[in-house]
Amino acid sequence: MERRAIDVRGTVQGVGFRPFVHALASRLGLAGFVRNTGSAVSIEVEGDRGALDAFERELCAGPPPLARIESVTASRLTPLGDRDFQIAVSRVADVAALSIPADVATCAACLSELFDPANRRYRYPFITCTNCGPRLTIVTGAPYDRPQTTMADFDMCDACRGEYTNPSDRRFHAETIACAACGPRLRAVAAGGGTIAGDPLDVAAAVISSGGIVAVKGLGGFHLACDATSDAAVAALRARKHRDDKPFAVMLRDLQAARDLCTVSERESELLSSAARPIVLLHPRTKSVIATSVAPGLDRLGVMLPYTPIHYLLVDLMRHRPLVMTSGNRSDEPIATENADALSRLEGIADLWLVHDRTIHVRCDDSVVRDLDGETLFIRRSRGYAPAPLSLSAGVEEATLAVGGQLKNTFAIARGHHAYLSHHIGDLDDLRALDAYERDVTLFEDLLSVRPQVVAYDAHPDYASTRYAHQRTAGARIGVQHHHAHVASCIAEHGIEGPVIGLAWDGAGWGPDECIWGGEFLVGDCRRVERAAHFRYVPLPGGDVAAREPWRMALSHILDAGGDPAEAVPPSVEASAASVVRQMIARRKHAPLTSSVGRLFDAVASLADVRHISTYEGQAAMQLEAVAALARSAAAYDFAVDDSTHPMTIDTRQLIDGVLVDRHEGRHRAIAGRFHVTLAAVAVDVCRRIRATQGLSRVVLTGGVFFNSYLTALVERRLACEGFAVYRHRRVPPGDGGLSLGQLAVAAAVMKEGR
Ligand code: ZN
Ligand code: ZN
Ligand code: FE
Repeated sequence: MERRAIDVRGTVQGVGFRPFVHALASRLGLAGFVRNTGSAVSIEVEGDRGALDAFERELCAGPPPLARIESVTASRLTPLGDRDFQIAVSRVADVAALSIPADVATCAACLSELFDPANRRYRYPFITCTNCGPRLTIVTGAPYDRPQTTMADFDMCDACRGEYTNPSDRRFHAETIACAACGPRLRAVAAGGGTIAGDPLDVAAAVISSGGIVAVKGLGGFHLACDATSDAAVAALRARKHRDDKPFAVMLRDLQAARDLCTVSERESELLSSAARPIVLLHPRTKSVIATSVAPGLDRLGVMLPYTPIHYLLVDLMRHRPLVMTSGNRSDEPIATENADALSRLEGIADLWLVHDRTIHVRCDDSVVRDLDGETLFIRRSRGYAPAPLSLSAGVEEATLAVGGQLKNTFAIARGHHAYLSHHIGDLDDLRALDAYERDVTLFEDLLSVRPQVVAYDAHPDYASTRYAHQRTAGARIGVQHHHAHVASCIAEHGIEGPVIGLAWDGAGWGPDECIWGGEFLVGDCRRVERAAHFRYVPLPGGDVAAREPWRMALSHILDAGGDPAEAVPPSVEASAASVVRQMIARRKHAPLTSSVGRLFDAVASLADVRHISTYEGQAAMQLEAVAALARSAAAYDFAVDDSTHPMTIDTRQLIDGVLVDRHEGRHRAIAGRFHVTLAAVAVDVCRRIRATQGLSRVVLTGGVFFNSYLTALVERRLACEGFAVYRHRRVPPGDGGLSLGQLAVAAAVMKEGR
């Protein structure tokens, strides 16, 4: 006889691990117990040596689908003479670093029960098990047990309790267990809050089928749903939501439907059907039943598959007609999560509300990804991914909080070698987002049982996250320059040791010279960077407004290049407005200097007559990318790198001249392709200069500009041809959603040096 203590670490809680261990031990005739301890699953097993060896082997070989084992440690104990194997109660005192799993799409077993008339949960819209269902979105505290979730509002019926307490049942300790007798219920509600009689799903499907708009309460918030094949329905949704062109995502019944409408690679089909169920940006086929107004002017369509029983039932009732499923908000506000809030905020937008009584505690938007040469590019990392930890090879000795940026905010907490990145919080300009932000930081602290005394923040003095960092009591506060954080984020993702060349190209970030940076070549590591080169400064007339009005940047660049300013003003802009902007530029009033590549994209998009006014962030650049992707081959424009200055400057004046020549000669469509190629040439030129003087050959690509997958692929290929090792983001977005990870990495390096 022998007894062993075995600790299993990783994502092993809330994923059916304990029932799996119980079944395994029972099968091998072993006695002992298994217990969640917060940071691990602890097992003590007793039996003969052969069976114990088999136990350890099979433990690692066949864990439940959602489990991810990171380490297993075993040690010998004195046998106690246990008779049977038990699942012991979690000891709350042990909870040190509870790893809350992300929300999981309905599993295959639940799905077949959902449509099985003989099953007691037939068509029950909240069917879940240990392998699927809501997680982060319903957690209110630690540890992850039913009382600590919004399911605490529901008392289990006897049948459910029987399953919950039966170790051999798939729903053993499924904290979200429910059935029609005891669990949450759907309701169809009209404007004003009155319940509508009849089956709520039938009512909703009927409204959508007749061209109406339904607010559907999902996992992390409300969606607005309508018929994606109806131009009239989509137009109504746009008009009511005040959303001019911003693309909507669609929900399709299954992979085959996605293949019918779009080209789908192997990797894309994996992403679409993964348990995280993100929105995947796909290439639509030319002939499509999807209304063109769903994603106007773009070469990609956001597609997702159903991920909750409500979605499956709705898609089924819609006879498989594609649905628009867009965030339930008015323009750029955070999505609604509460029934009353949804009723008031979506009044005038939705014709019907499909609500339920399971509370959403954590607002969590859909994740958005695309495939780039077989690798995932995160546009938004949120539902289904957060808060699964990323590894932080540097590690931290003290728990550290990174507060993130201002737009597309995420925050992150580091503990040891793990970085827990939050879901997408959104733009902290919005008070609702800011409230959720502070509350969710506290929730993460509870889940991880830490109160970080080290706080990293963006050096921008006016970010709401920066102010929050200063309000907190902290032992150490570490300000991190925006683009340094971007570079560190990519370094951290790849665990790169030693200095790199970091291309940090984005819209805007605060620079220590009080200019707005955004076209940077930084050299260094997580501890410190030096600015090796940047794009030439030009005025940013009107600050943030310039990002919404690309023609302003066109004017700024033309004036900088000595061109004719009349050239830059599109007919849609009034002469008086143009002259105000000219004065801003001339007098340098409300016109800080910027090196932003994002704004250079805007200028070129306007000069190519692709976009003069953007109705959503990044629209001009996205449309310019779509045009460029059509070009077969293109020659770079001229540009100059001035290496007499330190940092070096990339002169954009010849580039603008070249664009103007194409414009005069009516070659508007060539501009987009040539511009992309020019940026790749700039990247190669500057990186070669840095390699020549500093011997560095590793390059990281980061910043929101690298959401542009056409540019990313181009730059990567060109640099690789020149012998550079190129790293890009695969686990967090290259944009500001990935900043918090970079801030953690910088803080870890600073603290390590301090010791
Ligand atoms: Zn399930
Ligand atoms: Zn029940
Ligand atoms: Fe940025």
